Formats: sequence, C-alpha cells, structure tokens
Amino acid sequence: MTSNADGTRTMTDAPGLLTDFLSFSLADARPVADRAGGECAHGVRYQWLGAGLLQFEPEAKPVASVVVSAGVHGDETAPIELVSRMVADIACGALPLACRLLVVLGNIGAMRAACRYLDDDLNRLFCGAHARLHGGSEKARAATLEAATARFFAQAAPADAAPRWHIDMHTAIRASVFEQFALLPHTGRAPADAMLEWLARARIAAILLHTAAGTTYTQFTAQTYEAMACTLELGKVRPFGQNDLSHFDAADRAVRSLVANVASGSATPMPRVFTVVDQITKRTDAFELALASDVPNFTVLAKGQEVARDGDYRYIVTRGDERIVFPNPSVKPGLRAGLIVVETTAETLARTPRGS
Ligand SMILES: [Zn+2]
Repeated sequence: MTSNADGTRTMTDAPGLLTDFLSFSLADARPVADRAGGECAHGVRYQWLGAGLLQFEPEAKPVASVVVSAGVHGDETAPIELVSRMVADIACGALPLACRLLVVLGNIGAMRAACRYLDDDLNRLFCGAHARLHGGSEKARAATLEAATARFFAQAAPADAAPRWHIDMHTAIRASVFEQFALLPHTGRAPADAMLEWLARARIAAILLHTAAGTTYTQFTAQTYEAMACTLELGKVRPFGQNDLSHFDAADRAVRSLVANVASGSATPMPRVFTVVDQITKRTDAFELALASDVPNFTVLAKGQEVARDGDYRYIVTRGDERIVFPNPSVKPGLRAGLIVVETTAETLARTPRGS
C-alpha cells in the first residue's frame, strides 16, 4: 500500500477492490489508476466510481438496472458483509450477472466509527434534503450518492423497457413481531406485483406502506427514477464479523437471484401488508411515550390505551387493530417519535395490478 499526497492510500495488494470490497472501502483505498475498471469473469465489466461505489455491466444485453445498497446506516453490518461477498462472487464468476448493477456502501465514515451516523441520519437526506443542511459529514455523502445513482439510471433503458430496482438493506435497532420486514416508499401507486413476489421469495413477513413521501434513499429512486424500491429491515445489529449470516440467507438469495435473473424460492406466502395511518410527533421536550423502551415493532396496541402525551396533546388508540412501529421518544422535537399502522393486506393485494 502507498500513501498519496491527499492522504488517501492506493492498494497494490489485498484486500482487493473486488475480492474484499468492504475492507477496501473501510481502508479508504482507491484503485491504482489502470485498475479502476476492467473485465472480470464471464466478460462482466466493472468500474469503481468512488468510495463505496462499484458498477457492473454484463456482457449480454442487461435485463434490468439494479441498485443494491447497504450501510446507509453505518452500524447495520450484516447486509454490508453480504454485499461485499456478492461483489466477490460476481468478480470470480460464482454469481452470474444478468443486469446492470450499482453496488453502494452508504455511510462509510459511520461504518468506520461503528455508529448509525456521524452528524445526520443519511437516510433522511435524500430527495435534495441534504441541500438544507449547513454542514456535517453526511451532507456531501448524500449528494454523492444521489449523483452516482442519477448517472446510473441516466444510462439505463427506459423503465418500461427494462425494470429498475433498488434494494436498500438495513438491520433494525429493536425486536419486531415480524423479524424481517420491508418499507415501501410512497409513490401514489399500489406496489408492483413483481416487488411483492420478490419480497415473498425473500421470506419477508411484512410490508409497511408509507402514505407520505419521505426523504429516504428508496423514496429518491422510486419517485425520481421509477425504480421498484424497498428498504429491507433484516433483524438486529451486531458488530462486523459477529453476524450469523445464515440468518440472512433468504434475503441474500433473493438479491442474488434478482441480479442473476433467476427465480429462487417460493413466492408464497405473500407478506402481510400494513399501512401507516398516523404519526406520533414529538412536539416538545415534555414528550412521554407510555410504552416499554424495548417494545417490539408491530406490537398491537389496546383500544383506549394512551400511547403518548406532550403538554395538552394525547395520542389515544381509537381502533382495535393499531400497531406501533419505530417508537423512539429520544428524537429531537419536531421529529417522528413513532408510526401507527394497521393491516391492509386484502385491500392492497386486490389493488395491485397483476403482472406489473
Ligand atoms: Zn437502517
């Protein structure tokens, strides 16, 4: 390894860009000039686009354009390890590639510091939200990821000619009634049948439909580039190297099947579908949440139960089937302290255009 004038380092040996993309990225390495791009197994072309950004193109006409991202929250380690292994398997030919693929390791600074984020939650800074910040580590990273994603989709076939996908993999902070679940950004349309089937093959037990546009990475790709986009929550966070990756097998197999364009696993049962019906917002520092600090996501609330109070404000459960997701009383005032969701499986599946 040699040091460059700008403080970055050039890798001349292992860990390599393709064989260990995670270590390569954590080391803040950059390829030697003539190795930033090239050809790996089966005629697949690769191109390093910057820290944590790697693009692949298959030799044959691609069937889809796919973004696979992990580490948008730096301490959500297991999916980052899976993505790094997938890169190595594409490079050596163990995983055949049938699509254009952009691999993204999101918040590398936070990955190095083993924390969710350094200054601001990167997954709230997309759709241009980064422009409203005055500084901080994540502002520039959000802009970089948006630009790389924009270039990737600008070179893609139109969405109606070749599907566009974005799978953003996370792990949850807390336990969940449904251990692995997916969040779908708000698009104003019913979820695509292809996305529901893919989630079923990934053994995702539940889907949460947002009813308002957020500023997440998947919101950005769905609304700007018509990608079928989902945020996967795949279980609990552990440090690098301490994850039982077998626990993530189904999701890993589904991502690999997507990029190889082969069907794997059964598309039944379909995930249960939940829709956001209310948001609990923390207004002041007097905010109190009347739930145990470790209450699992999707816990059913009792009708008449007081869930939150903040001065004169009360949130009282009025329906019999309300559930709490992402309760967090320690957010800053003005931010979301929890979502209230209800099950809408039957209505949603009836609304979904089959074969889309
Ligand atoms: Zn996350």
